[in-house]
Amino acid sequence: MIEIKVAPIRNGTVIDHITAGQALNVLKILGVNEYNIDSTISVLIRVPSRKEDTGGWKDVVKVEDRELDTKTVDKIALIAPHATIVIIRDYVVAAKNKVNLGSRISGLVRCSNPHCITNKNEPVEPEFDIISKEPPALRCIYCDRTLQNISDNLI
Ligand code: ZN
Repeated sequence: MIEIKVAPIRNGTVIDHITAGQALNVLKILGVNEYNIDSTISVLIRVPSRKEDTGGWKDVVKVEDRELDTKTVDKIALIAPHATIVIIRDYVVAAKNKVNLGSRISGLVRCSNPHCITNKNEPVEPEFDIISKEPPALRCIYCDRTLQNISDNLI
């Protein structure tokens, strides 16, 4: 069995069991870019995973000195349905939860249909039914368009 050694963090969040290849999209969801990195972030891409449902490979993102709000966790669930969110406080695991989407989401992604009411400057928040979690697929409740390229349409 291969062990991945990464220095433990004192405070922050470990996003584990990310679908292999999605780490960069997770960074995008976290709002990480060259102008706003204010704590250490470790990114592991394509490391061996013991969990069967990730296909043997996973990505891992560790963010120091930051905990994630519900909206951010829900966005991660959309692209990495098997992710685990581990909150570390003073080197101890304070909470460990699998991401879990309900059957409907609102305000997280925009509809890819330019003619959809949600793209017409109306005060209508995009809302989707989750029609598949693996691979993630969403259907707009207003225009019935199925959205598959979720990471490109995250708000
Ligand atoms: Zn729509």
